[in-house]
Amino acid sequence: MKILVVNAGSSSLKYQLFDMDSGDVLAKGLCERIGIDGCITHKRPGKENYKSNEPLKDHKAAIELVLKLLCDSELGVISEVSEIGAVGHRFAHGGEMLRKSSILGEKELMYLESIVEINPLHGPPAISGFKACQSVMPDVKHVGVFDTSYYSTMDETAYIYPIPYELYEKYKIRRYGFHGTSHRFVCAKAMDILGKSDAKVITCHLGNGSSITASIGGKAVDTSMGFTPQEGVPMGTRSGSIDPTVVTYIMKKEGLSPEETEKLLNSKSGLLGVSGVSSDCRDVLEAQNDGNKRSRLAMNILVHYIKKIIGSYVAEMNGLDALVFTAGIGENDGVVREMICNDLSYLGIEIDKDVNLNAKRGEQVEITKQGARVRTFAIPTNEEYMIALDTYELVK
Ligand code: AMP
Repeated sequence: MKILVVNAGSSSLKYQLFDMDSGDVLAKGLCERIGIDGCITHKRPGKENYKSNEPLKDHKAAIELVLKLLCDSELGVISEVSEIGAVGHRFAHGGEMLRKSSILGEKELMYLESIVEINPLHGPPAISGFKACQSVMPDVKHVGVFDTSYYSTMDETAYIYPIPYELYEKYKIRRYGFHGTSHRFVCAKAMDILGKSDAKVITCHLGNGSSITASIGGKAVDTSMGFTPQEGVPMGTRSGSIDPTVVTYIMKKEGLSPEETEKLLNSKSGLLGVSGVSSDCRDVLEAQNDGNKRSRLAMNILVHYIKKIIGSYVAEMNGLDALVFTAGIGENDGVVREMICNDLSYLGIEIDKDVNLNAKRGEQVEITKQGARVRTFAIPTNEEYMIALDTYELVK
C-alpha cells in the first residue's frame, strides 16, 4: 500500500509518499509561500530535484499540484491518485480527546476545531490542509497523527499545573507535551536495540524547538514541553521555562501587550535572545569559538537546562537505561552532545568522546563509553515514517 503523509503549515505543505511494502520513500517535497506566490520542490530519490514557482492560492491548490506531480509521466512515481491507499496528517495537538492516531471523520474534525483556541498557531493550517486533501481525495481514508497523543500515558501528577484546579476544568490548561511522534519513534528504536521491554529511556529532541521526554517501556511518563511548546529547555528563539513573574514584570516595565510578550518569549529569546547572534546552534557555536562571550553563555545556559531535566527524569524514573539524542542538533552536533554528557557519570552516563565526535552526521550511532551503565545513542528521527506507519496500521 502507498501512504501519503501531509504536514500542513500556515504557508507551507510538506509531503512524502511511502511504499509501505518496502518502507521506501517514493517521492517527497515541499510547497512554500502558499497564499503568497507559490513555489514547489519535488524530490525523488536518485533523481534530479524539480523546483518551480507556481501560483498556490491555498492548501487545496497545493495538494492538487502535489497529486499532479506524483502522477506526472516524467516527474511522477504513480500512475493515478487511486494508487494512494490512505493519507496521514500530522497534527501538533490532539487535545485530551484524541489520545491516539485516529481515522478522521466529522466528530474528530469538530473536536479539532473546538481546540484551536489552545493551539492557535498549528491548528488552523493543519485543519485547512486536511480539509483540502479530503476534498481532493474524498474516497481514501484520512488519518490524524497527533504529537500530543504520545503523552496520553502521563499521570495527572505530571500534567496538572499547581494553579487553581478550576482553570484546568474551565480552560483545559494542563501540560500536553509536543514532538511526541519523534520521541515515540526514537524511543522505540532504542528499545529495539536494548531488547528490554521495561526500559527507562530519556529522549532529547534538540532542534530549533527542543523537548526532552522520559519513557518507561515505550510509554511517556514526563516531558519538558507543556501547555504549549514554549515550556522546558531554551530553544532557538523560545525562552523555555522561566519564573512566571518575569513575564508580568516585563509586561509592566516595557508596556507590552500579551501578544507582544508572547512574541518576545517565542521569537526573540532562547539562543537568539542571549547570544544576540543567531537562533541557529551552528552560528552560535561558531561565534563562541571566535570568542563571543554571549554566545558562549547562550550555549552554556542551553546545556545547563538540558542537564537539569535529564537529572530530574532519572530521579522521577528511579533509573535510566538509555539516553537518546535526535533532531537537528541532537543528531548532528557531537560538540553539544559532549557538553551535555560531561560530568553525568554519577548517573551512569559516560560517552566515548572519539566515537561521539567522529559519528557520521545523521546516522544512528551508539556513543556509550565501554563499561558505562547507561547506553547513549544518536538516532535520526523520522516522524513522517511514524505517521505513515500509524496510518497503514489503521487502514490496512
Ligand atoms: P531542526 O529543528 O531539527 O531542523 O534543527 C535545527 C537546529 O539543528 C539548528 O539549530 C541547527 O543549527 C542544528 N543543525 C542542523 N544541522 C546541523 C549540523 N549538521 N551540525 C550541527 N547542527 C546542526
